[in-house]
Amino acid sequence: MDGRYGDSTRSVKAVGSEPVPGSPVAPPPVPASTFHLSPDESESLDKYGRYSNPTWRQLESALAELEGAAAALTFGSGMAAITSVLRVLAKPGHTLVVPGDGYNQVRRYAREYLAPQGVTVVEAASAEMCHAASDAHVVLAETPANPGLDVVDLHRLAMDCRRRGSTLVVDNTTATPLGQQPLSLGADLVVASATKALSGHSDVIAGYVAGSHPELMAAVEQDRLLAGPILGVFEAWLVLRSLGSAGLRFERQCHNAQALAVMLRNHPAVKSVRYPGLPDDPSHQIAMLQMKKFGGLVAIELENAQAVHTMVERSALLVASTSFGGIHTSVDRRARWGDPVGDGFARISAGIEDTDDLIADFEHALA
Ligand SMILES: *Cc1c(COP(=O)(O)O)cnc(C)c1O
Repeated sequence: MDGRYGDSTRSVKAVGSEPVPGSPVAPPPVPASTFHLSPDESESLDKYGRYSNPTWRQLESALAELEGAAAALTFGSGMAAITSVLRVLAKPGHTLVVPGDGYNQVRRYAREYLAPQGVTVVEAASAEMCHAASDAHVVLAETPANPGLDVVDLHRLAMDCRRRGSTLVVDNTTATPLGQQPLSLGADLVVASATKALSGHSDVIAGYVAGSHPELMAAVEQDRLLAGPILGVFEAWLVLRSLGSAGLRFERQCHNAQALAVMLRNHPAVKSVRYPGLPDDPSHQIAMLQMKKFGGLVAIELENAQAVHTMVERSALLVASTSFGGIHTSVDRRARWGDPVGDGFARISAGIEDTDDLIADFEHALA
Protein backbone atom coordinates (compact mmCIF):
# COMPACT_ATOMS: atom_id res chain seq x y z
CA MET A 1 0.00 0.00 0.00
CA ASP A 2 1.18 3.46 -0.85
CA GLY A 3 2.19 5.04 2.44
CA ARG A 4 1.52 8.54 1.16
CA TYR A 5 -2.21 8.12 1.44
CA GLY A 6 -4.60 8.60 4.34
CA ASP A 7 -7.29 6.08 5.30
CA SER A 8 -10.15 7.48 3.23
CA THR A 9 -7.94 7.73 0.15
CA ARG A 10 -6.74 4.17 0.72
CA SER A 11 -10.31 2.92 1.10
CA VAL A 12 -11.50 4.68 -2.03
CA LYS A 13 -8.50 3.64 -4.11
CA ALA A 14 -8.74 0.05 -2.93
CA VAL A 15 -12.15 -0.42 -4.57
CA GLY A 16 -11.35 1.30 -7.86
CA SER A 17 -11.74 -0.39 -11.24
CA GLU A 18 -9.46 -0.22 -14.28
CA PRO A 19 -10.05 3.06 -16.16
CA VAL A 20 -11.35 1.43 -19.33
CA PRO A 21 -13.52 3.98 -21.21
CA GLY A 22 -17.16 2.95 -21.11
CA SER A 23 -16.75 0.47 -18.25
CA PRO A 24 -18.42 0.99 -14.86
CA VAL A 25 -16.50 3.02 -12.28
CA ALA A 26 -17.94 0.86 -9.49
CA PRO A 27 -17.12 -2.82 -10.04
CA PRO A 28 -20.38 -4.77 -10.60
CA PRO A 29 -20.93 -8.25 -9.11
CA VAL A 30 -20.40 -11.18 -11.48
CA PRO A 31 -22.80 -13.91 -10.29
CA ALA A 32 -21.42 -16.87 -12.22
CA SER A 33 -20.98 -20.40 -10.90
CA THR A 34 -19.09 -21.62 -13.95
CA PHE A 35 -16.98 -20.07 -16.69
CA HIS A 36 -16.08 -20.89 -20.29
CA LEU A 37 -13.07 -23.15 -20.37
CA SER A 38 -10.41 -22.91 -23.04
CA PRO A 39 -10.71 -25.73 -25.64
CA ASP A 40 -6.99 -26.50 -25.37
CA GLU A 41 -7.40 -27.02 -21.59
CA SER A 42 -4.88 -24.27 -20.74
CA GLU A 43 -5.52 -22.75 -17.30
CA SER A 44 -7.93 -19.80 -17.21
CA LEU A 45 -8.25 -17.47 -14.25
CA ASP A 46 -11.84 -18.48 -13.62
CA LYS A 47 -13.16 -22.03 -13.92
CA TYR A 48 -15.70 -22.62 -11.18
CA GLY A 49 -17.01 -20.18 -8.57
CA ARG A 50 -15.69 -22.08 -5.55
CA TYR A 51 -12.10 -21.80 -6.84
CA SER A 52 -12.22 -18.08 -7.51
CA ASN A 53 -14.32 -15.52 -9.31
CA PRO A 54 -13.96 -11.91 -10.48
CA THR A 55 -15.95 -10.43 -7.58
CA TRP A 56 -13.85 -12.18 -4.94
CA ARG A 57 -10.70 -11.05 -6.69
CA GLN A 58 -11.83 -7.42 -6.59
CA LEU A 59 -12.60 -7.67 -2.88
CA GLU A 60 -9.47 -9.67 -2.13
CA SER A 61 -7.18 -7.19 -3.80
CA ALA A 62 -8.88 -4.35 -1.88
CA LEU A 63 -8.47 -6.19 1.44
CA ALA A 64 -4.84 -7.07 0.65
CA GLU A 65 -4.15 -3.40 -0.12
CA LEU A 66 -5.66 -2.27 3.17
CA GLU A 67 -3.86 -4.93 5.25
CA GLY A 68 -0.53 -4.32 3.49
CA ALA A 69 -0.56 -7.99 2.41
CA ALA A 70 0.52 -9.68 -0.79
CA ALA A 71 -2.82 -11.49 -0.94
CA ALA A 72 -6.18 -11.95 0.76
CA LEU A 73 -8.81 -14.69 0.65
CA THR A 74 -12.48 -14.06 1.37
CA PHE A 75 -14.65 -16.42 3.40
CA GLY A 76 -18.32 -16.79 4.23
CA SER A 77 -17.81 -15.39 7.73
CA GLY A 78 -15.07 -14.38 10.15
CA MET A 79 -15.43 -17.79 11.81
CA ALA A 80 -15.02 -19.53 8.45
CA ALA A 81 -11.77 -17.62 7.88
CA ILE A 82 -10.42 -18.29 11.38
CA THR A 83 -11.32 -21.97 11.48
CA SER A 84 -9.85 -22.55 8.03
CA VAL A 85 -6.53 -21.09 9.19
CA LEU A 86 -6.63 -23.15 12.40
CA ARG A 87 -7.36 -26.34 10.44
CA VAL A 88 -4.38 -25.63 8.19
CA LEU A 89 -1.93 -24.73 10.96
CA ALA A 90 -2.90 -26.66 14.10
CA LYS A 91 -2.22 -30.35 13.46
CA PRO A 92 -2.49 -33.28 15.88
CA GLY A 93 0.36 -33.07 18.40
CA HIS A 94 0.65 -29.29 18.03
CA THR A 95 0.05 -26.71 20.72
CA LEU A 96 -2.30 -23.85 19.88
CA VAL A 97 -2.63 -20.72 22.01
CA VAL A 98 -5.97 -18.90 21.75
CA PRO A 99 -7.09 -15.76 23.59
CA GLY A 100 -8.97 -16.59 26.80
CA ASP A 101 -10.53 -13.13 26.74
CA GLY A 102 -11.21 -12.91 23.00
CA TYR A 103 -14.06 -13.91 20.70
CA ASN A 104 -15.65 -16.82 22.54
CA GLN A 105 -16.64 -18.99 19.58
CA VAL A 106 -13.00 -19.29 18.52
CA ARG A 107 -12.23 -20.83 21.92
CA ARG A 108 -15.20 -23.14 21.51
CA TYR A 109 -14.03 -24.32 18.10
CA ALA A 110 -10.54 -25.00 19.45
CA ARG A 111 -11.91 -26.85 22.47
CA GLU A 112 -14.70 -28.78 20.77
CA TYR A 113 -13.14 -29.60 17.38
CA LEU A 114 -9.36 -29.26 17.53
CA ALA A 115 -8.65 -30.62 21.02
CA PRO A 116 -10.40 -33.99 20.33
CA GLN A 117 -8.14 -34.35 17.27
CA GLY A 118 -5.01 -34.15 19.40
CA VAL A 119 -4.28 -30.43 19.36
CA THR A 120 -3.26 -29.10 22.77
CA VAL A 121 -5.32 -25.96 23.25
CA VAL A 122 -3.98 -23.34 25.67
CA GLU A 123 -6.15 -20.38 26.59
CA ALA A 124 -4.20 -17.28 27.55
CA ALA A 125 -5.41 -13.83 28.54
CA SER A 126 -4.33 -11.21 26.03
CA ALA A 127 -2.24 -9.48 28.68
CA GLU A 128 -0.33 -12.78 29.18
CA MET A 129 -0.06 -13.74 25.52
CA CYS A 130 3.65 -13.05 25.25
CA HIS A 131 4.44 -15.45 28.15
CA ALA A 132 1.97 -18.16 27.18
CA ALA A 133 3.41 -18.58 23.71
CA SER A 134 6.52 -20.42 24.88
CA ASP A 135 6.22 -23.84 23.20
CA ALA A 136 3.30 -23.21 20.87
CA HIS A 137 3.24 -24.12 17.20
CA VAL A 138 0.46 -21.65 16.52
CA VAL A 139 -0.48 -18.50 18.42
CA LEU A 140 -3.76 -16.73 17.71
CA ALA A 141 -3.86 -13.24 19.19
CA GLU A 142 -6.75 -10.82 19.13
CA THR A 143 -6.13 -7.14 19.75
CA PRO A 144 -7.84 -5.13 21.08
CA ALA A 145 -9.49 -8.22 22.53
CA ASN A 146 -13.25 -8.51 22.17
CA PRO A 147 -14.90 -7.65 24.52
CA GLY A 148 -12.44 -6.55 27.26
CA LEU A 149 -10.25 -4.42 24.92
CA ASP A 150 -6.83 -5.41 26.27
CA VAL A 151 -4.14 -4.70 23.70
CA VAL A 152 -1.47 -7.30 22.85
CA ASP A 153 2.06 -6.05 22.16
CA LEU A 154 2.21 -7.47 18.64
CA HIS A 155 5.78 -6.57 17.82
CA ARG A 156 7.04 -8.29 20.96
CA LEU A 157 4.81 -11.32 20.44
CA ALA A 158 5.91 -11.60 16.81
CA MET A 159 9.59 -11.52 17.85
CA ASP A 160 8.93 -14.26 20.45
CA CYS A 161 7.04 -16.37 17.93
CA ARG A 162 9.73 -15.97 15.30
CA ARG A 163 12.48 -16.98 17.74
CA ARG A 164 10.55 -20.12 18.73
CA GLY A 165 9.41 -21.00 15.25
CA SER A 166 5.71 -20.57 16.01
CA THR A 167 3.25 -19.11 13.53
CA LEU A 168 1.50 -15.94 14.66
CA VAL A 169 -2.05 -15.30 13.49
CA VAL A 170 -3.74 -12.04 14.47
CA ASP A 171 -7.48 -11.44 14.51
CA ASN A 172 -7.74 -7.86 13.23
CA THR A 173 -11.53 -7.54 13.50
CA THR A 174 -11.81 -4.93 16.24
CA ALA A 175 -9.05 -2.60 15.02
CA THR A 176 -9.59 -3.13 11.25
CA PRO A 177 -6.67 -2.53 8.86
CA LEU A 178 -7.41 1.18 9.18
CA GLY A 179 -6.57 0.99 12.87
CA GLN A 180 -3.56 -1.33 12.72
CA GLN A 181 -1.63 -3.53 10.29
CA PRO A 182 -0.51 -6.66 12.17
CA LEU A 183 1.52 -7.96 9.20
CA SER A 184 3.75 -4.90 9.38
CA LEU A 185 4.32 -5.68 13.08
CA GLY A 186 5.48 -9.22 12.27
CA ALA A 187 2.32 -11.37 12.19
CA ASP A 188 2.35 -14.26 9.71
CA LEU A 189 -1.36 -14.10 8.91
CA VAL A 190 -4.28 -11.79 9.58
CA VAL A 191 -7.76 -13.23 10.04
CA ALA A 192 -10.83 -11.06 10.46
CA SER A 193 -14.54 -10.67 10.31
CA ALA A 194 -15.56 -8.19 7.62
CA THR A 195 -19.03 -8.28 9.17
CA LYS A 196 -18.13 -5.48 11.57
CA ALA A 197 -16.69 -2.02 10.81
CA LEU A 198 -15.29 -2.82 7.37
CA SER A 199 -18.69 -3.51 5.86
CA GLY A 200 -20.26 -1.36 8.55
CA HIS A 201 -23.95 -1.45 7.67
CA SER A 202 -25.07 -4.46 9.74
CA ASP A 203 -26.36 -6.18 6.62
CA VAL A 204 -23.77 -8.80 5.61
CA ILE A 205 -21.62 -11.53 7.18
CA ALA A 206 -18.15 -12.10 5.72
CA GLY A 207 -14.56 -12.84 6.66
CA TYR A 208 -11.07 -12.90 5.21
CA VAL A 209 -7.49 -14.06 5.63
CA ALA A 210 -4.59 -11.84 4.57
CA GLY A 211 -0.91 -12.63 4.35
CA SER A 212 2.28 -12.53 2.36
CA HIS A 213 3.72 -16.08 2.71
CA PRO A 214 2.82 -17.76 -0.61
CA GLU A 215 2.83 -21.31 0.88
CA LEU A 216 0.65 -20.35 3.85
CA MET A 217 -1.85 -18.56 1.64
CA ALA A 218 -1.90 -21.44 -0.83
CA ALA A 219 -2.64 -23.89 1.99
CA VAL A 220 -5.52 -21.73 3.24
CA GLU A 221 -6.86 -21.38 -0.30
CA GLN A 222 -6.72 -25.16 -0.66
CA ASP A 223 -8.71 -25.57 2.55
CA ARG A 224 -11.30 -23.09 1.30
CA LEU A 225 -11.59 -24.98 -1.96
CA LEU A 226 -11.99 -28.39 -0.31
CA ALA A 227 -14.04 -27.46 2.77
CA GLY A 228 -16.06 -24.89 0.81
CA PRO A 229 -16.79 -22.15 3.42
CA ILE A 230 -17.15 -19.54 0.70
CA LEU A 231 -18.64 -16.07 0.45
CA GLY A 232 -21.54 -15.55 -1.96
CA VAL A 233 -20.84 -13.23 -4.87
CA PHE A 234 -23.52 -10.72 -3.85
CA GLU A 235 -22.20 -10.65 -0.29
CA ALA A 236 -18.68 -10.09 -1.62
CA TRP A 237 -20.01 -7.23 -3.69
CA LEU A 238 -21.81 -5.72 -0.65
CA VAL A 239 -18.54 -5.74 1.31
CA LEU A 240 -16.69 -4.22 -1.63
CA ARG A 241 -19.34 -1.54 -2.02
CA SER A 242 -18.99 -0.67 1.66
CA LEU A 243 -15.19 -0.63 1.75
CA GLY A 244 -14.97 2.62 -0.17
CA SER A 245 -16.55 4.53 2.72
CA ALA A 246 -14.82 2.51 5.46
CA GLY A 247 -12.18 5.21 6.08
CA LEU A 248 -14.83 7.88 6.52
CA ARG A 249 -17.07 5.77 8.74
CA PHE A 250 -14.26 4.43 10.88
CA GLU A 251 -12.86 7.89 11.47
CA ARG A 252 -16.22 9.04 12.88
CA GLN A 253 -16.66 5.85 14.88
CA CYS A 254 -13.25 6.28 16.50
CA HIS A 255 -13.94 9.94 17.18
CA ASN A 256 -17.29 9.10 18.78
CA ALA A 257 -15.76 6.25 20.80
CA GLN A 258 -13.05 8.53 22.18
CA ALA A 259 -15.60 11.21 23.14
CA LEU A 260 -17.89 8.63 24.74
CA ALA A 261 -15.00 7.04 26.65
CA VAL A 262 -13.98 10.41 28.11
CA MET A 263 -17.57 11.26 29.08
CA LEU A 264 -18.30 7.80 30.55
CA ARG A 265 -15.04 7.74 32.47
CA ASN A 266 -16.16 10.81 34.39
CA HIS A 267 -19.72 9.62 34.95
CA PRO A 268 -20.69 8.55 38.48
CA ALA A 269 -22.96 5.71 37.22
CA VAL A 270 -20.08 4.06 35.37
CA LYS A 271 -17.82 1.88 37.50
CA SER A 272 -15.07 1.47 34.92
CA VAL A 273 -14.25 2.19 31.30
CA ARG A 274 -11.81 0.52 28.95
CA TYR A 275 -10.76 2.29 25.75
CA PRO A 276 -7.23 2.08 24.36
CA GLY A 277 -7.41 5.76 23.45
CA LEU A 278 -7.81 6.93 27.07
CA PRO A 279 -4.42 8.17 28.31
CA ASP A 280 -4.73 6.27 31.60
CA ASP A 281 -6.01 3.02 30.08
CA PRO A 282 -3.71 0.07 30.95
CA SER A 283 -3.29 -0.61 27.20
CA HIS A 284 -2.73 2.97 26.08
CA GLN A 285 1.07 2.86 25.83
CA ILE A 286 1.15 -0.22 23.58
CA ALA A 287 -1.84 1.04 21.62
CA MET A 288 0.00 4.30 20.94
CA LEU A 289 2.91 2.34 19.48
CA GLN A 290 1.02 -0.04 17.23
CA MET A 291 -2.39 1.46 16.44
CA LYS A 292 -3.16 4.29 14.06
CA LYS A 293 -6.65 4.63 15.48
CA PHE A 294 -8.05 3.23 18.72
CA GLY A 295 -11.24 1.80 17.26
CA GLY A 296 -14.96 2.17 17.73
CA LEU A 297 -15.45 -0.08 20.77
CA VAL A 298 -15.73 1.09 24.37
CA ALA A 299 -16.17 -1.36 27.26
CA ILE A 300 -17.97 -0.15 30.37
CA GLU A 301 -19.02 -1.66 33.65
CA LEU A 302 -22.33 -0.50 35.15
CA GLU A 303 -23.78 -1.54 38.53
CA ASN A 304 -25.64 -4.59 37.19
CA ALA A 305 -27.61 -6.01 34.25
CA GLN A 306 -30.65 -3.87 35.08
CA ALA A 307 -28.54 -0.70 34.82
CA VAL A 308 -27.60 -1.68 31.26
CA HIS A 309 -31.24 -2.35 30.36
CA THR A 310 -32.31 0.98 31.86
CA MET A 311 -29.64 2.83 29.89
CA VAL A 312 -30.95 1.30 26.65
CA GLU A 313 -34.58 2.07 27.53
CA ARG A 314 -33.85 5.71 28.32
CA SER A 315 -31.69 6.24 25.25
CA ALA A 316 -33.13 7.43 21.95
CA LEU A 317 -30.08 6.45 19.89
CA LEU A 318 -28.69 3.25 21.39
CA VAL A 319 -29.57 0.02 19.61
CA ALA A 320 -29.50 -3.12 21.76
CA SER A 321 -27.88 -5.68 19.49
CA THR A 322 -24.89 -7.92 19.32
CA SER A 323 -22.07 -7.56 16.79
CA PHE A 324 -20.48 -4.12 16.26
CA GLY A 325 -19.00 -1.70 13.77
CA GLY A 326 -22.32 -0.62 12.21
CA ILE A 327 -23.48 2.93 11.54
CA HIS A 328 -25.82 2.86 14.58
CA THR A 329 -24.34 3.10 18.04
CA SER A 330 -25.14 -0.18 19.73
CA VAL A 331 -24.69 -1.90 23.05
CA ASP A 332 -24.34 -5.55 24.00
CA ARG A 333 -24.36 -6.92 27.55
CA ARG A 334 -21.78 -9.63 27.04
CA ALA A 335 -22.58 -11.77 30.09
CA ARG A 336 -25.75 -12.89 28.30
CA TRP A 337 -23.49 -14.64 25.74
CA GLY A 338 -21.35 -16.30 28.37
CA ASP A 339 -18.28 -14.05 28.09
CA PRO A 340 -16.20 -14.09 31.29
CA VAL A 341 -17.28 -10.58 32.33
CA GLY A 342 -19.47 -9.05 35.05
CA ASP A 343 -23.26 -8.75 34.79
CA GLY A 344 -23.07 -4.99 34.29
CA PHE A 345 -20.39 -5.20 31.59
CA ALA A 346 -21.51 -3.58 28.34
CA ARG A 347 -19.64 -3.38 25.05
CA ILE A 348 -20.54 -0.19 23.24
CA SER A 349 -19.99 0.11 19.52
CA ALA A 350 -19.84 3.74 18.44
CA GLY A 351 -21.78 4.52 15.29
CA ILE A 352 -21.47 7.49 12.94
CA GLU A 353 -24.06 9.78 14.58
CA ASP A 354 -23.08 13.37 15.41
CA THR A 355 -20.82 13.31 18.43
CA ASP A 356 -22.72 15.96 20.39
CA ASP A 357 -26.00 14.11 19.91
CA LEU A 358 -24.48 10.88 21.18
CA ILE A 359 -22.95 12.47 24.24
CA ALA A 360 -26.21 14.22 25.10
CA ASP A 361 -28.12 10.97 24.61
CA PHE A 362 -25.79 9.03 26.94
CA GLU A 363 -25.96 11.82 29.54
CA HIS A 364 -29.75 11.51 29.49
CA ALA A 365 -29.75 7.70 29.43
CA LEU A 366 -27.47 7.45 32.48
CA ALA A 367 -28.97 10.34 34.49
C1 LIG B 1 -17.37 -11.17 15.16
C2 LIG B 1 -16.00 -11.66 15.40
C3 LIG B 1 -15.56 -12.86 14.82
C4 LIG B 1 -16.48 -13.74 14.00
O1 LIG B 1 -16.88 -13.13 12.83
P1 LIG B 1 -18.24 -13.57 12.06
O2 LIG B 1 -18.18 -12.74 10.82
O3 LIG B 1 -19.38 -13.28 12.96
O4 LIG B 1 -18.11 -15.03 11.79
C5 LIG B 1 -14.27 -13.23 15.04
N1 LIG B 1 -13.43 -12.49 15.79
C6 LIG B 1 -13.82 -11.36 16.37
C7 LIG B 1 -12.87 -10.58 17.20
C8 LIG B 1 -15.12 -10.91 16.20
O5 LIG B 1 -15.51 -9.77 16.79
